[in-house]
Amino acid sequence: MRRRIAVVGGGPGGLSFARVLHRHGHPVAVLERDPAPDARPPGGTLDLHEGLGQLAMDKAGLLAEFEALSRPEGQAMRILDTAGTVLRDWRPRPGDRANPEIDRGQLRDLLLGPLDVQWGRGVTRVVPGTRDGVRVHFADGRQEAFDLVVGADGARSRVRPAVSPVTPHYTGVTTVETSLDDVDTRHPDLARLIGDGSVAVYGVNRSLVAQRSSGGHVKVYARFRTPLDWHTNTDPTDVEAARSTLLALFDGWAAPVLDLLRHGTAFVSRPLHVLPVSHTWTHVPGVTLLGDAAHLMPPLGVGANLAMLDGAELAESVAACPEDLDEAVRAFEERMWTRAGRWAEITTAGLERLVSPDPTEALAHFDQVQPS
Ligand SMILES: Cc1cc2nc3c(=O)[nH]c(=O)nc-3n(C[C@H](O)[C@H](O)[C@H](O)COP(=O)(O)OP(=O)(O)OC[C@H]3O[C@@H](n4cnc5c(N)ncnc54)[C@H](O)[C@@H]3O)c2cc1C
Repeated sequence: MRRRIAVVGGGPGGLSFARVLHRHGHPVAVLERDPAPDARPPGGTLDLHEGLGQLAMDKAGLLAEFEALSRPEGQAMRILDTAGTVLRDWRPRPGDRANPEIDRGQLRDLLLGPLDVQWGRGVTRVVPGTRDGVRVHFADGRQEAFDLVVGADGARSRVRPAVSPVTPHYTGVTTVETSLDDVDTRHPDLARLIGDGSVAVYGVNRSLVAQRSSGGHVKVYARFRTPLDWHTNTDPTDVEAARSTLLALFDGWAAPVLDLLRHGTAFVSRPLHVLPVSHTWTHVPGVTLLGDAAHLMPPLGVGANLAMLDGAELAESVAACPEDLDEAVRAFEERMWTRAGRWAEITTAGLERLVSPDPTEALAHFDQVQPS
């Protein structure tokens, strides 16, 4: 008997789940709130780690396509102090494919492949244990029932309340994101500063990181400790107001570094929220979570990787045991909780060191994770 399986959310986690299930011949409904794949800019670049995101691509049969598109040179990382002095200039060795970069949009398109995503299907809530299975309620008032509903709907998951009362809390750190386009021709000095990968500058309780995607596109992340309501006096649509607020926050930093903010095209504020380090729940038949919905943690380069591996492993678990979905999900949850708990500890400690009153902590952190 075919089981009715749905995944809520077409991000890296949901698409990995759907793509691996599809590879095993199981139909799955992908329910995505966005009205179309290109409804919003896809975001910057992601590094896929060996043993995490790359393993998920392998399980999806997409490793060769990933290798063809990804940028191993994007692993390069330069660290400066606030005066602009280069403290570290790390470059990958030839053949190093530990964490190659790929644009989020390219990754999404690879995962989408033959999948038939239902766009514009925002889910409002999920009710397990009804007579016909798990009921999914949609924003347009419709309802549908499934045997298994997987919440891969990110930080503000609407599926999460069906299994857990826990909600994300603010870390005390906010990121403001801006971008530079066509950097090699329009801002050659900044292009040199950033190099093939990224440049990071660490000061007291703040940092600036610029990271190259393909096509000369760069994302700049200004990160700082602040109360949640820091920008209530700034109109978020007023680009110049946002720019001067940020320039004031980073006052005194070297001019070439501040040019990353001076040339930014728009500013988006993202207060960093997280779930508790060991977020688990009592198993609920017919519903589970993966990715940020299950274990939202500081964005230090593993969230998408974990979401993808969660998705791929859950799909394999379901494909191996379709007659007992509950057993398949329980086995997956135990494995996910252990792995996510470990990474949540690492990234929580990492955020403390990277946005620290003592900037040498950030350098020590880098030397630990990227020994030369
Ligand atoms: C600035 C920044 C940089 C990052 N860099 C990295 C990195 O380099 N490497 C890395 O591994 N991770 C990185 N991360 C973390 C990574 O982006 C997330 O962990 C990852 O995207 C989580 O994937 P997901 O599939 O669980 O959720 P998401 O990517 O959030 O996808 C959720 C999907 O669900 C959809 N959705 C939401 N609500 C509903 C609803 N109610 N109904 C239907 N659909 C819904 C959304 O539209 C979205 O498509 C970064 C994060 C940030 C903020």
